[in-house]
Amino acid sequence: MVCLAPRALRNYAPSAPAGASVRPLSFTVRSRMANANRAALAAATRRLRLLRLIANFALPTALAYVGGVGLTLHFFPSLIPLGPMTGSALVIAGVALATASFISTASFRHGVATCPRCGQRFLRSPYALWVPRRCQYCRYDVVTGSEGDF
Ligand SMILES: [Zn+2]
Repeated sequence: MVCLAPRALRNYAPSAPAGASVRPLSFTVRSRMANANRAALAAATRRLRLLRLIANFALPTALAYVGGVGLTLHFFPSLIPLGPMTGSALVIAGVALATASFISTASFRHGVATCPRCGQRFLRSPYALWVPRRCQYCRYDVVTGSEGDF
């Protein structure tokens, strides 16, 4: 009776084809694909997180920069005859900040920036002043990378 049990189990088990090594192989491929997907998701999440930081903070930074330069020149008027190199460096830095702010906010407003998880546009409203950290569709959090509640 006890000796028959394993045999009975084997009779009721689904019959496997002769190649028994198929299973470990497909398991390896599947887990490797899952790893690749996770890596791609992490990379896309990192890119979107950086774009969101620029979209949210480039404009305040640019304003603070202009204000800082203005205040400095107001309180230290002796700096006003800036050399051509310093003057151009200040202007170029300001233009670079404004451009980064424009490109990043425009990509969110026009739906170019998509959610790394669901592929929908990340920001639903084109008039939002602040890019939230969660996807507006699937609630995927780009800061923590947590899935959110479906
Ligand atoms: Zn999403």
